[in-house]
Amino acid sequence: MDITGFIPTGIEISYLVATALFFIGLKYLGSPATARQGNTIAAVGMLLAVVGTLLNAGVVNYSVIFLSIAIGSAIGAIGAYKVAMTEMPQMVGLLNGLGGGASTLIAVAEFLRGLPAAEVPSIDSRITLILSILIGGITLTGSLIAFAKLQELMSGSPITFPLQQPVNILLFASFVVGSGYFLTVPKDELVFLGLTAIALILGVLFVLPIGGADMPVVVSLLNSFSGIAAAAAGFVLMNNILIIAGALVGASGIILTQIMCKGMNRSLSSVLFGAFGGVKSGKGGAGGAVEDRTARSVDAEECAMMLGYAQSVVIVPGYGMAVAQAQHSVRELADQLDRLGVEVKYAIHPVAGRMPGHMNVLLAEANVPYPQLYDMDDINTQFDRVDVALVIGANDVVNPAARSDSNSPIFGMPILDVDKAKHTIVIKRGMSTGFAGVENELFYLDKTMMLFGSAKDVVGKLVSEIKQL
Ligand code: NDP
Repeated sequence: MDITGFIPTGIEISYLVATALFFIGLKYLGSPATARQGNTIAAVGMLLAVVGTLLNAGVVNYSVIFLSIAIGSAIGAIGAYKVAMTEMPQMVGLLNGLGGGASTLIAVAEFLRGLPAAEVPSIDSRITLILSILIGGITLTGSLIAFAKLQELMSGSPITFPLQQPVNILLFASFVVGSGYFLTVPKDELVFLGLTAIALILGVLFVLPIGGADMPVVVSLLNSFSGIAAAAAGFVLMNNILIIAGALVGASGIILTQIMCKGMNRSLSSVLFGAFGGVKSGKGGAGGAVEDRTARSVDAEECAMMLGYAQSVVIVPGYGMAVAQAQHSVRELADQLDRLGVEVKYAIHPVAGRMPGHMNVLLAEANVPYPQLYDMDDINTQFDRVDVALVIGANDVVNPAARSDSNSPIFGMPILDVDKAKHTIVIKRGMSTGFAGVENELFYLDKTMMLFGSAKDVVGKLVSEIKQL
């Protein structure tokens, strides 16, 4: 009996191992404690998949491939080193766009390659070609607009214009009609390229009306789209690993989108069609009064005494801590408090910062012990027994208006209940609002003390003061 047909090739083995590594990597990425390992495991899987693909006998030009890999890797490595943690959402946005663009190019290249051939592509190929250009095209231009908004190359607010919805519907309907025609006449170059152009325009129109605090949710959704586009391109090429990797990205992106919507108490439809999130500018200045209310400003010495003589302190990091890159100083502060016998915990809000897991990543970078991190539901039951809640550069995620003011744009968003602690110290530079652009009642409560300054400097001062206790 000839068993050669059953012996898997090097390519199939590499794809199988890569798939297993992707699954293990994803599992490890599920917890901040093992996330780094997960990332490495998945990256090794991707390397194997690439090596396996290069073994393909159909490869015609290795020099072009290796040159492209060298250029792409150099750009990726520089990006990874240079881009600040706070700029990650736009970096991810750009990467999603490149993924969508790659899928679109694969579809267009496959279509053009098949044009001179006498036989017509199968109905499956035609459907996957259409799906690749639709999802890939929307992902490419949608992500570029998301990048431009987050990088402030254009207004970050929702951009709307008259008859926007009818225009979108008309364009989508043209795509559907054009696709129907392409399914029956699959060699019409003009129709295929026209469909590609419509998909690219739809991407722009899809993201323009979304803005402000909703942008990271859209980036996550586009991440999912880039995976689905890759899976569709995998069907075009009949490449199993592309289908598997794309499906994994597509599914995890959708789960992440859902987690973020839940963290902000927003439905996906209101994110996509609600045109919420115009960034309003903040009011007031350091230590100043806003309208008829005055916030109580204190100095580092007073705060250091309060922290040093407390029994329990909960640190609440936010976007400002990330901008100031204060995580190492925060860790030092916690070490000093620990030396004095103070119990220190960190409260992590799911959407603190500008991307999911932002605070976990930063604190892990500063080697904060993982067991000291508490998620919102766990820590909220403990705040009434906490002596001092130390809010560092967080604003929206501790704004009580989310609980009590039904007119507030953040009403309903779950928050960290720092106002229930015995005392609250808030470190920020002035009285500016957070990302959602709303005033924060917390700053004016009797038991709240404002410690003004940039997070890194102020926490540094606290560390030196506490060292003297
Ligand atoms: P916010 O954006 O609400 O507030 C950050 C605060 O940090 C500002 O009020 C600012 O005040 C202060 N700040 C800025 N720079 C510094 C500095 N150098 N030192 C000290 N303070 C500084 O942050 P939160 O983390 O509380 O909330 C995150 C927001 O982002 C929420 O609205 C959330 O919905 C949104 N978002 C987050 C996502 C995520 O995945 N993480 C996703 C989608 C949206 P001042 O200028 O006065 O210093």
